[in-house]
Amino acid sequence: MSIRIGVIGTGWIGEQHVHRLTNVIAGAEVVAVSDIDLELAAKVGASAGARVVDTAEKLIGDPEVEAVVVTSWGPAHAEQVLACIEAGKPVFCEKPLTTDAADGRRIMDAEQAFGRRLVQVGFMRRYDAGYRQMKRVIDEGGIGTPLIAHCVHRNAAVRESYTTEMAAKDSAVHEVDALRWLLGEEFASVQTVLPRRTAKRFEHLRDPQIFLFETASGARVDVEVFVNCQYGYDIQCEIVGEEGAVRLPDPAAPAVRAAGRVSVPVLHEFGDRFTDAFDVELQEWVGRVAADEVPLGPSSWDGYAATVVTDAAVQSLHSGVIVPIDLGERPALYA
Ligand code: NAP
Repeated sequence: MSIRIGVIGTGWIGEQHVHRLTNVIAGAEVVAVSDIDLELAAKVGASAGARVVDTAEKLIGDPEVEAVVVTSWGPAHAEQVLACIEAGKPVFCEKPLTTDAADGRRIMDAEQAFGRRLVQVGFMRRYDAGYRQMKRVIDEGGIGTPLIAHCVHRNAAVRESYTTEMAAKDSAVHEVDALRWLLGEEFASVQTVLPRRTAKRFEHLRDPQIFLFETASGARVDVEVFVNCQYGYDIQCEIVGEEGAVRLPDPAAPAVRAAGRVSVPVLHEFGDRFTDAFDVELQEWVGRVAADEVPLGPSSWDGYAATVVTDAAVQSLHSGVIVPIDLGERPALYA
């Protein structure tokens, strides 16, 4: 029997997840979709044979819907996730869990009152094969105690609607979650550093940016976000430990030897890089829901932590100084 899923938000990633749940993932059926844009919802719903429900609230309350995927825009996530918890339904919420740290606390309070985890946040890098290999090496002591991490997050170009704050909130947020997970500890402070801006893109945008984090144990993490680098989509990560270093493998690609050169293509689009990770992530989530088990993936605490850390990075962007990060007490449910 398939898990009957409702999807809220049928934009870029919502449409992809509807397709994925319908054609790639085993044990899932999209039975209902909703979006502010009902025409869009109808188009995406039709591709999966799913009904259109005219509001998110009705979709969450729909008795046929057993679990919910939230892919609406960020500011709508908190209320939609809270409504799912109130209805006792498992919810997979694309990042960000919330755009406000206080809403993250509200979600954790509601989940604790419910008594078990219902929420998984869509930080898919934890499901990428390369990151998982790195995690295994670190956890098995393959590089000794981690001391430094160097990360690069580059896009060929972004749309004009991309703002300076989004470098932290939309881009570096993925490194924040991945590094908290890889290192197994929280970030304690951040400083945002602004190199000379590229002249290749919009006047309004400070690009590139460098984020300098310090973890609770004193390890340092630097993240370069450069979203108009021109040449492609390029994600790099290297962790240096006391006894060695581990580097995220580049996506496999044939090396061409011709005209006196060896050349390897660079991916162009973000979607091409993490397709497999999205598949593995949603397959695991569906399997856990079907077995009536709590999710294994990023929790409400992880979503909350990412919001607090990236809020601090934005604060530092404006002030230029090192901003301390205080997450407060981690509830036992998320130990
Ligand atoms: P998008 O194309 O703008 O799609 C969002 C859709 O949700 C739009 O159709 C929007 O309608 C609709 N919507 C807005 N408020 C709503 C509400 N209250 N109820 C129902 N629908 C609502 O954006 P996207 O790129 O798909 O991103 C969606 C979310 O996924 C964002 O939070 C984004 O950060 C996240 N995301 C995550 C990843 C990842 O790497 N994990 C990648 C991409 C996106 P209107 O356009 O009419 O407002």
